[in-house]
Amino acid sequence: VLFFKNGKEYFSDVLIGADGIMSKVRTIFFDNVCIRKSNQMCWRGVLDYTLPSVFLHKALEAWGKESRFGFVQIGKDKVYWYALKNIKGQEDLFLNIDDFNGYDNLVKNLLKNTPASSIHAAEIKDVKPFKGWSTSSVCLLGDAAHAATPNLGQGACQAIEDAYVLSNYLKIHDVEKAFLMFEKSRIKKAHNIVKTSFLVGKISQLSNSFLRSFRNRVLKTIPSRFNKAKMKSIFTLSDFCNNKYKTGYKRNYGANF
Ligand SMILES: Cc1cc2nc3c(=O)[nH]c(=O)nc-3n(C[C@H](O)[C@H](O)[C@H](O)COP(=O)(O)OP(=O)(O)OC[C@H]3O[C@@H](n4cnc5c(N)ncnc54)[C@H](O)[C@@H]3O)c2cc1C
Repeated sequence: VLFFKNGKEYFSDVLIGADGIMSKVRTIFFDNVCIRKSNQMCWRGVLDYTLPSVFLHKALEAWGKESRFGFVQIGKDKVYWYALKNIKGQEDLFLNIDDFNGYDNLVKNLLKNTPASSIHAAEIKDVKPFKGWSTSSVCLLGDAAHAATPNLGQGACQAIEDAYVLSNYLKIHDVEKAFLMFEKSRIKKAHNIVKTSFLVGKISQLSNSFLRSFRNRVLKTIPSRFNKAKMKSIFTLSDFCNNKYKTGYKRNYGANF
């Protein structure tokens, strides 16, 4: 029986926990799942602004020392930006525009002209990859199962892909098997995204100047076909059909249910 704060109660044989990174369903039914802090603070803002024409139709990200700044024109006279900084002390939990003094004037203009009420602050976290997203009647989906840091912009995309794959398995299998096949189909891609995203976040905000200059040199030499292959792996849907008719897949790990 599910009890909600508004007083409503629902009875169900099956529960899909699509309740986000801090999932209550996960806390109740699944052990040893760890919320992982990246030690990075993120501010996101939207303001009325038009970028210089050279920046239109592009999403840009600038990397500095222990910080980065991204921005994009999201509509007529509307710009979305995000600013990240490594957390070393309490003072880093608050936005200090001076921390971005080393960036282009455009960055400072965007920060200065955004009303405080339009700035969202959050510490960047993810869910440390774990196996066993379901019990026989409870299944986690989206951020509840595999929340990623935002560095690849994939959290919502992966949650939607989960819903697509799970709903297809539910059409052809009983619930328990559908849950297992869903995880089998999705876990490799979802975990790759969590891990790559975490790594990208760390690489982009290095504190050591030697490592930063090494990183900059290496990144320039990476062939574009490597980036294209990576993008292709992200944008290719998990193929539930590959597993559709396989039988005999047994739960070999599980939750405490
Ligand atoms: C500022 C920001 C920018 C982002 N940008 C991108 C992006 O560009 N691209 C991208 O793909 N992803 C992005 N993401 C990530 C994306 O928002 C999440 O990965 C996605 O929303 C996860 O979807 P979900 O359905 O799993 O969980 P959520 O969207 O978190 O939904 C969970 C739902 O469950 C409800 N809920 C939680 N607990 C309970 C409870 N106990 N009882 C009842 N209801 C409950 C919540 O109210 C919520 O409605 C961004 C996230 C943020 C914060």
